[in-house]
Amino acid sequence: MSDAAADSVIYLDYNATTPVDPAVIDAMVPMLSREFGNPSSGHRIGAAAAAVVEQARAAVAELIGARESEIVFTSGGTEADNAALRGVLAARPSRRGVVISAIEHHAIIETAEQLEREGATVTHVGVGADGRVDLDALARAVTAETALVSIMLANNETGVIQPVREAAEIAHRHGALLHTDAVQAAGKIPVRVDDLGVDLLSLSAHKMYGPKGAGALYVRRGTPLRPMMIGGHQERDRRGGTHNTSGIAGLGAAARLAAGRLSEEARRIRALRDDFEQALTARFEQVHVIGAGSARLGNTSCVCFAGVEAEALLLLLSEEGICVSSGAACSSGSLEPSHVLRAMGVDPRIAQGQIRFSFGRHSTRDELDRLLAALPSLLGRLSALSG
Ligand code: PLP
Repeated sequence: MSDAAADSVIYLDYNATTPVDPAVIDAMVPMLSREFGNPSSGHRIGAAAAAVVEQARAAVAELIGARESEIVFTSGGTEADNAALRGVLAARPSRRGVVISAIEHHAIIETAEQLEREGATVTHVGVGADGRVDLDALARAVTAETALVSIMLANNETGVIQPVREAAEIAHRHGALLHTDAVQAAGKIPVRVDDLGVDLLSLSAHKMYGPKGAGALYVRRGTPLRPMMIGGHQERDRRGGTHNTSGIAGLGAAARLAAGRLSEEARRIRALRDDFEQALTARFEQVHVIGAGSARLGNTSCVCFAGVEAEALLLLLSEEGICVSSGAACSSGSLEPSHVLRAMGVDPRIAQGQIRFSFGRHSTRDELDRLLAALPSLLGRLSALSG
C-alpha cells in the first residue's frame, strides 16, 4: 500500500495488532546492526546484547509489578499460553486437571484440547450473559486434582475484564495454580501480578505497539514449570533458544512506553469509544453492544448488527478503507458465531453480525465521524442485497 493510501485508511483493529511505535523501532534497529551479539556469548559483544535483554526484562517486570527473575521471554502470547499450560501440567504429574473458561483465546483452548488427547482432564467453565466467568461454576470445577486454572484477564472480542483475582483465590484454595492470559490487558489497563494473585501471566509485544513475535510469560518465583523449548540454558533453563534480541528490545521499549502513557491514553481512547457507541445506538436500531454492562477494556467495542452478515460488512468497510474485525481476527473467514458470543448465549442471528471495533493510540474523532457517516449506506446496501 502506498503511504498516501495508508494515510486514508481508518484502522480500528488494535486488538488484532498495533502499529509499531517509532520509539520501539529505534530500540530495535541497533540490535539488528551494531548490537548483533548473542547474549549468551562470554565476550563484550555478547555482553552488550545481554545488557539490552536485561533492560527489557526490567521494563516488562515493572509494567506488571513482577521481579525481573520472574520474566521469561517467548515468541509471543501463543507460546506463553502454550508454555504455561504444558509446563505446569508436566511439572505437576500428580495432578491431571486443567480448568479453563469457555471464552479463552484459541491458544489456550486448543492447547487444552491437545493436553486432553494426551491424558489430561479439561473442564470448561461458562460465562454469564455479561461475558464474565461464572465463579460459582469455577468453584465447582476446581478440585484437588486440578493442576492449573487459566482465566484470561480481558477478552479479545468483547473486552470484558474477568474476575481473575477471585479465580486465583478459588484455585489456590484447592492447591491449583492460576494462569492468566493478559495479552489484551497489558498496556491497556493496570496489571499487577500481586494484586491479581496470579502464578503465571502471558503478554505479547504486538498488542502494545511492539513487534510481532515477541512476548513474555511471568512465572511467580517457586512455580513449578517444565520448559517446552529445550536444548539451551537461556532464560534460567525455562526457555531454550538464542534470544530474539531485537524483538525483546522492542518489547521492553513498548512496555516502558505503555507504563508511561497508560492512564492518559486509556482515558482519551475510552471517551472516543463511548461516544462511538452512543452515536451508533442512537442512529441504528439493529445495533447491540455486547458486554456493555460489564467492566470492559476502554478501547474495545463489540457490536452486533442484527440481520447482517459480519463478513460482508467487514468487506464493505474494508473497501471504504475502514479496517475492523469480525470477532477474533484469527477466526474471521468463518461464518460461525464466535465461541465467545455463543458462550454468552447471544442469539446466533444477532451474533452473526458481530463486528469488533478496537481503538488505539492513533484513533481520532475525525475517523469516528467518517466511520459513522459511511455506515448507513453500507448497511443499506447489505439489506438491499439480502432483501
Ligand atoms: N491471547 C489473546 C487474548 C490474544 O488476543 C492473542 C492474539 O490475538 C493471543 C493470545 C496470541 O498472541 P500472539 O499473537 O502474540 O501469539
